[in-house]
Amino acid sequence: MRYFDSHIHMLARTTDDYEHMAAAGIVGVVEPAFWLGQPRTQAGSFIDYFDSLIGWESFRASQFGIKHYCTIGLNPKESNNIPLAEAVMKLIPRYCEKDGVVAVGEIGYDEQTPLEDKYYRLQLELAKKLDLPVMIHTPHRDKKRGTSRSMDVCDEHGLDPAKVVVDHNNEETVKETLERGYWAAFSIYPSTKMGNARMVEILRQYGARQVIVDSACDWGISEPLGVAKTAKLALQQGIPEADVRLACYQNALEAYGQSGQMKEEDWLNPVAIDQRAVFEGNSILRGGREPKVEAAKSRRTMDDLIIE
Ligand SMILES: [Zn+2]
Repeated sequence: MRYFDSHIHMLARTTDDYEHMAAAGIVGVVEPAFWLGQPRTQAGSFIDYFDSLIGWESFRASQFGIKHYCTIGLNPKESNNIPLAEAVMKLIPRYCEKDGVVAVGEIGYDEQTPLEDKYYRLQLELAKKLDLPVMIHTPHRDKKRGTSRSMDVCDEHGLDPAKVVVDHNNEETVKETLERGYWAAFSIYPSTKMGNARMVEILRQYGARQVIVDSACDWGISEPLGVAKTAKLALQQGIPEADVRLACYQNALEAYGQSGQMKEEDWLNPVAIDQRAVFEGNSILRGGREPKVEAAKSRRTMDDLIIE
């Protein structure tokens, strides 16, 4: 089975993670623009960050056989720095139109301040104008109210719920998110967000329509195999294969495919891995390391039946 992780911050992860993800069946990822842990002090840091997402990181993923997309947005935490937020808001429209950008995100609330509200609304309007999907980060504190409010504001701005992914859901929020017609994403993130045994119970109770499983893996203690491990556990525990496929692969494609930037052929017929390739003069290799070079053929077909 193929899997897709539609929320993972690979910039903070290692090459080992890419190798393990590819081996576990992850064929593609969406990397949302977010907070880096260290607060940024100037808009130039955002320019370099956005360029990394659409440039170097996408190249790096390709060197491990994983298709990489991203979302662009001003995260809620840094919305509270007015001069920075104003400058970044000027950059965002042009980055949203770059290849491989599948949504405006992750945007929404953290502490639910008036400034977070202001820049969230401005970015919802931008998404509407550009006809792009939206990825919403819901707050970890005051989760239920923050999640309802995130959707209320989308409704108020006239967004189509079918183009909005509400992320970091849990048992407390899932019912309302589904009933209101939004995509309900769940981040399998150790200790803080969701565990995968709980996720399996949600799939059992609510089915997989509109449900998306992701890892939200980042620079914290997180799990790059969150999607693949949840899929395996769900299958072991009797969740129908069709539902596992929806939640761990197909729904992410449906939701973010609405950008016109993502289609299944992107990873079904991947270019062969050639780690001698360079991006602006740099390869992922260091020193005398032996590059991995695949023969130029598709890696994911049954055409070559003989295994030697
Ligand atoms: Zn995130």
